[in-house]
Amino acid sequence: MMTTLDIRGRDLGVRELRALMPRAELDVEAALAVVRPICDDVHDRGAEAVRDHSERLDHVRPRRLRVPAGTIAAAVDALDPTVRAALEETIRRARLVHADQRRTDTVTRVVDGGTVTERWVPVDRVGLYVPGGRAVYPSSVVMNVVPAQEAGVGSLAVASPPQRDNPPDFAGQPHPTILAACGLLGVEEVYAMGGAQAVAAFAYGFEDGGDVCDPVSLVTGPGNIYVAAAKRLLRGVVGIDAEAGPTEILVLADETADADLVASDLVSQAEHDVVAASVLVTDSPALADATAAALEARVSATKHSERVRTALTGSQSAIVLVDDIEQGVAVADAYAAEHLEIHTRDAARVALRVRNAGAIFVGPYAPVSLGDYSAGSNHVLPTGGCACHSSGLSVQTFLRGIHVVDYTREALAEIADLVVALAEAEDLPAHGEAITARFGDHR
Ligand code: NAD
Repeated sequence: MMTTLDIRGRDLGVRELRALMPRAELDVEAALAVVRPICDDVHDRGAEAVRDHSERLDHVRPRRLRVPAGTIAAAVDALDPTVRAALEETIRRARLVHADQRRTDTVTRVVDGGTVTERWVPVDRVGLYVPGGRAVYPSSVVMNVVPAQEAGVGSLAVASPPQRDNPPDFAGQPHPTILAACGLLGVEEVYAMGGAQAVAAFAYGFEDGGDVCDPVSLVTGPGNIYVAAAKRLLRGVVGIDAEAGPTEILVLADETADADLVASDLVSQAEHDVVAASVLVTDSPALADATAAALEARVSATKHSERVRTALTGSQSAIVLVDDIEQGVAVADAYAAEHLEIHTRDAARVALRVRNAGAIFVGPYAPVSLGDYSAGSNHVLPTGGCACHSSGLSVQTFLRGIHVVDYTREALAEIADLVVALAEAEDLPAHGEAITARFGDHR
């Protein structure tokens, strides 16, 4: 079902590996052309434009974009008790991990009388995007909201697409489970809007029948290519997190791995999207064959069989045969997967050697599905190779570090001549004069 790429016996560098490895070919340029008029329209016409694009794309026209408080409370009341327990435990674990990410200010005494303090200040207002096209993701509410709250963000708003198949009590609203997750987290400002129109609405702000949505400073959260394109287009008008596009899993495995578990994890990520990527990298042809056989059985039996099959047979998915685990690590680093699973002998030690991944899952009892929901880790992770330069969503995403510089007259005098020398070397004499002006002839 998956194509096999055999790179055994080939000494390949990062550049060649990146060119060889399968990757979804996403036409962001085409998506940018689609979202540009949507974003311009929201800029010009505000809430009415959001409603028009919802009607066209989501096939439902929300009467009011802001979800009333009573509707959020009703969604919490209507929540299945087992799902409620699962969400509460997921929130508890995510809070444990993200609370540990909080930063404390650091004061560096550079010289006597001269200090630089790094003060960590939360972003004032953020817009959190929760996808809701093909599937609904209450877990993404948790993954967005918990780090923002733990960072101390004062004002946060959630947006998720309105659902046309909602029960009548929730007509024109996001999925009730998403609303319930917001309720459990204490989020009061929730909007029924999705796609590029939601990103633009957050960036520009709008007024809707008395409800005011102030512009946000930062938009975070995963989404499809239109969400990613809108974030790219509006970057600058608004801050964005790393692009989190269609999901990816890379499994690095040797002959000790359980082929059926490997297959189940490849299928689990393929279930997200027809353009999701599932990649197995192994030095064991026997494991590759056994995994291929296990995939046949699992794909036929799984609920979203067609979607999974399309993702696994797509050009973005493959089984890659390598010489040994060392070459496997090089492949994993070159690919920089959103999710990297390691099913090898001494998996924890192999994990330590990996430098590029959104998140690493060690051994047979840490599947990506656990991380998608309830490991405590964050599931909004960089995709498309961005894990070589970006991190997943965390408390840090919502903080800014401000340097506070505090020098006495004596401490400035000590460095004055050197600063003036640098200013002259850069041909910026006024910079030097700003120093000497403080001392006249009395230094
Ligand atoms: P989505 O909410 O991202 O997108 C739905 C919206 O897309 C719609 O409301 C609509 O406005 C817009 N849209 C749809 N077709 C359009 C078109 N032709 N032109 C313009 N706009 C259009 O939901 P989704 O589609 O289900 O995508 C969710 C994505 O997020 C999946 O790829 C999934 O894998 C990914 N995801 C990633 C993570 C992560 O952490 N990386 C987590 C959850 C989901």
